[in-house]
Amino acid sequence: MPDKMKPAGKVLLKDLSRAELEDFFSGMGERSFRAVQLMGWLYQRQATTFDQMTDLSLKLRQKLESAAIVNAVTVARRQESVGDGTVKYLFMLGDGNTCEGVLMRHDYGNSFCVSTQVGCAMGCRFCASTLGGRIRDLSVGEIVDQVVTAQRELAAEEKRISSVVFMGTGEPLENYAATVGALRLLNSPEGLNIGYRHLTVSTSGLSEQIRRLAGEELPITLSVSLHAPNDALRSELMPVNRRFPIGELLPACRDYIQRTGRRITFEYAMMDGINDSGEQARQLAGLLRGMLCHVNLIPLNPVAERGIARSSLETVRRFQAILEEEGIETTVRREMGGDIDAACGQLRRRAMLESGMGEK
Ligand code: SAH
Repeated sequence: MPDKMKPAGKVLLKDLSRAELEDFFSGMGERSFRAVQLMGWLYQRQATTFDQMTDLSLKLRQKLESAAIVNAVTVARRQESVGDGTVKYLFMLGDGNTCEGVLMRHDYGNSFCVSTQVGCAMGCRFCASTLGGRIRDLSVGEIVDQVVTAQRELAAEEKRISSVVFMGTGEPLENYAATVGALRLLNSPEGLNIGYRHLTVSTSGLSEQIRRLAGEELPITLSVSLHAPNDALRSELMPVNRRFPIGELLPACRDYIQRTGRRITFEYAMMDGINDSGEQARQLAGLLRGMLCHVNLIPLNPVAERGIARSSLETVRRFQAILEEEGIETTVRREMGGDIDAACGQLRRRAMLESGMGEK
C-alpha cells in the first residue's frame, strides 16, 4: 500500500521478497534466517497475528508488532455460490478501499482470481470494474494477501490453491512492478510455491509492457483480451486500442511468443450482434493464423449499466466451429458463480452502491 497510508510507517511484510525481508531483519539487528522462518508463518501457515508465531521469541514478536503489519487485506464480504462452490470475496484494504477476488473450484484444482488495482482506468465498454475509474494501484502484499486469505480458508479443508489468474479488477501491466513482484512471491518456494505455469496474467493489450514482460524470464501464461477482430470495433469496445492498435499489439504478442516459447491465450467475450458474426470469426482467424495461440471464447457476463447482451450458446458454438475450421484452437469458458456477481467488479460496485458511495 502507498507509504502514506501505512499506520505510522510500518512495513507491510507481504510487500517484501525473501531478500528484502532478510535486509529488514538485518536492519533490526536480527539474524537473516528469520526471514525464511517468518515466511513459513506468512505463507505456509497463513498466520494473521504475530502471537501465532510461537517459535519467535516474545521479544522479537513485540519488536515486529511495533515495526510491521501481517495482514494487507481482511474479508469485508464473502459470497458463496450454491451451484458450484465459487467464492467471491470483497477485501478491505488498510486505507478503507476495497477490491475483489474469486476462488473457483475445479476438478483439476482450485484457482484464485486476484485484483491488481482499486478500480480500473481502461474504460472497456462491457466491464463493471472500470465504471468508477481507477483509485490506486495495489501493492505486492495486497495482491499476494488476497491469495493467502483464500488459501487460509482452503487449508481448513486440506486443499490448496493450485493456480492464480490476474483477471480481477485492474490492468496488471499498468501496475507492472507490483504484478511482477507478486508473481515472483507467489512462485517462490518460501512463498506460496505455485509453479509459473499455473500463474496467468491477463492484459487489455499494453504492447510495450508485453515486450517488457517477455524479458523477465517468467514462464507464466499470458492472456490477451482481444474481443474484436478489427481496429474500428476494438477501439469502440476497448479505448486502449487507440493507443495500441491491433497492428502494434499482435507483433508484440508474436515477439512475446518467440522470446518465451509460451503460447498466448486470446480472450474473446461474445457479445450479441456486436462481435459474434461468422464474418468476424473468419476475420479473427485471419489475424491469428500461424501464431502459437489459443482463443478462449467467453459468453459475456452482462453488466446492467452496459446494456450489452451475451451471444447465444448456439452462436458461440458456430463461431468456435469457424475458428477451428480455420485451424485456430478454441475453447469456450465454462461459466462459474453466475449467482454471486462473479463478473469483474460487480461485487465491489454493488457494495459501494449500497453504502451510497457508488454514484457520482
Ligand atoms: N485488465 C485485464 C485483466 C482484468 S479483466 C484485461 O483486460 O485483460 C479479465 C478478463 O475479463 C478480460 O479478458 C476482460 O476483458 C474480461 N471481462 C471484463 N468484463 C467482462 C464481462 N462483463 N464479461 C466477460 N468478460 C469480461
